[in-house]
Amino acid sequence: MIRVVVTGASGKMGREVVRAVTAEPDMTVVAAVDPLHAGEAVEGIRVTGDLRDAIEASSPDVLVDFTRPEAVAANVRAAASSGIDCVVGTTGVPIATFEEIAEGAPEGVCVFVAPNFAIGAVLMMRFAREAARYLPHVEIVELHHDRKADAPSGTAIRTAEGISQARTVVPAAPGRESEVADGARGAVVAGVTVHSVRLPGLVAHQEVIFGGPGQTLTIRHDSLDRTSFMPGVVMAIRAVRERSGLVVGLEEIL
Ligand code: NAP
Repeated sequence: MIRVVVTGASGKMGREVVRAVTAEPDMTVVAAVDPLHAGEAVEGIRVTGDLRDAIEASSPDVLVDFTRPEAVAANVRAAASSGIDCVVGTTGVPIATFEEIAEGAPEGVCVFVAPNFAIGAVLMMRFAREAARYLPHVEIVELHHDRKADAPSGTAIRTAEGISQARTVVPAAPGRESEVADGARGAVVAGVTVHSVRLPGLVAHQEVIFGGPGQTLTIRHDSLDRTSFMPGVVMAIRAVRERSGLVVGLEEIL
């Protein structure tokens, strides 16, 4: 049995993680941590407030963190320094932060970070890289629920980085100099224009739109429900037991 501690257990993703881990035959939730929600119950498991106490009391093998950008580094540092492998879904934190934590961790500890645990989203990023080799004019529109803490999304940043590595030509993105309202042309990430939409009713969606003479190509992925992320999370919990150091992206363990 893989013993799992979930941080952010009372959050939207954390609750799904507790449910998904509980449903697997080879893993179990030994602690659920969420400081402002201590005393609540998630799937019948009592939420506690202090990660270090939870680690000491429950001896977990793996931490799964879906919290907030300002909380994740301290959680992962506390777990990794205690020899616990980490699966990180929280976005909005530079990879360099996790690199430094993984380097300082005891030998054999794995810190796995994925901006998107949905397999369809990983395929979208792969197809976008492929298309960018032939259609270098591209912009990204990412759409998320209105309580998302970071913009642009971690997935959009990773998609832009992949496109920037894949394309050999970097065309100019016209229109920025003639913006009538600030930000109308979006943000630039790794040379790619990214637009962020935040609305109630959305979960996590992204379009990568390529343009060429007389044609466009749109690659779109929709996470319609948070269960879309769970097969990837469960896969990562198993994978970190076999890996060490920093591993970034679900594609590394597929
Ligand atoms: P959420 O509903 O706000 O849940 C976050 C939870 O973490 C909240 O209950 C929050 O408590 C709690 N928290 C805050 N500080 C904490 C700490 N120090 N220790 C433990 N828990 C703490 O957000 P969400 O929608 O679940 O998303 C969480 C993160 O996952 C975000 O960064 C989001 O972008 C990311 N995400 C990633 C993926 C992926 O595939 N990688 C998919 C979806 C979401 P309070 O309510 O008191 O602040």
